[in-house]
Amino acid sequence: DLFYRQLPKVELHAHLNGSVSVATMENLISRKPHLNIQQSMTAIHKGQRRTLDECFQVFKVIHQLIDTEEDILMVAKAVIGEFAADGVKYLELRSTPRDEAHTGLTKRKYVETVIEAIRQCKQEDLDIEVRFLVAIDRRNGPEVAMETVKLAEDFMLSSDGVVVGLDLSGDPTVGHGRDLLPALQKAKNCGLKLALHLSEVPSQKEESELLLTLPPDRIGHGTFLHPEVGGSKSLVDKVRERNVPLELCLTSNVKGQTVASYDKHHFGYWYQLGHPCVLCTDDKGVFSTELSQEYQLAASTFGLSQEAVWALSQQAIGCSFAPDHLKEQLHQRWASLRPHIF
Ligand code: 5GP
Repeated sequence: DLFYRQLPKVELHAHLNGSVSVATMENLISRKPHLNIQQSMTAIHKGQRRTLDECFQVFKVIHQLIDTEEDILMVAKAVIGEFAADGVKYLELRSTPRDEAHTGLTKRKYVETVIEAIRQCKQEDLDIEVRFLVAIDRRNGPEVAMETVKLAEDFMLSSDGVVVGLDLSGDPTVGHGRDLLPALQKAKNCGLKLALHLSEVPSQKEESELLLTLPPDRIGHGTFLHPEVGGSKSLVDKVRERNVPLELCLTSNVKGQTVASYDKHHFGYWYQLGHPCVLCTDDKGVFSTELSQEYQLAASTFGLSQEAVWALSQQAIGCSFAPDHLKEQLHQRWASLRPHIF
């Protein structure tokens, strides 16, 4: 639908390797035939479901296909271009730096390459502002987390403002958030913003501690925070008191089976509280979606008017980690685009 595509949008929760489109994936697959990977192994199509665990298997396959500097540059530029084509005006991309011994890729080179892709898109006058969140995969434990924070801190100081924060992601059933607190606290103290996957699966038992001691600047998913799904009023109160925005990904949660159906998505719960909610794609490649589609889905599922959808996309500017002058520019941009849409 044209309205949703033309709507200026902010994307705050997009994992680089999960965002690679079918077209780019086909290109990668054909360049690496020896891996014997089929399209069906890298994306979950319409009507299909996977468990969250199976989703993490998909990422392993994708990582085999994207393991050189050239690959990273190519996919990052393609993903940024696709978000721009979908009407995203501000994007925070996140990705986990990887060492790949057999190709010589290092974590530092990985981050440099993503930053280079962002720089090239800017040079090519793509109509999108892009920032980068360095991701910690919780599976790799506290030491790697601390190394990742140091890497992110270096780049925050040397990337002309491209690196703005840190993401905590990876298999939520592995490890306890408490063990990562020293790394997360260090990140916060040096000025990195924190976007943490929180309460993505039931009974993680780390939410309260992370919310009290940090708190994060944004929450990814937060699926099981509220009492109706086994969370608690006290967790909800903590999130509300601290006014921590939620990044909500409808298709991802339904296809990954942490939410039973679209109408049961926790967007409904938080939106009616008036809490800041930002619609995001999570992994537009793996889950075969687009941000315009997520807005349309939320609108049709929860009966949002076009006015309400507009307000939702505008509110996302304030939830971003963009510096104040950029937020101001984005608000002006929204104001100038509005008459063309309504
Ligand atoms: P990358 O960081 O390699 O660019 O993107 C893929 C990675 O993002 C995955 O290996 C995983 O660590 C993280 N990721 C992507 N989608 C999800 C999700 O839905 N939940 C969690 N917890 N992590 C995710």
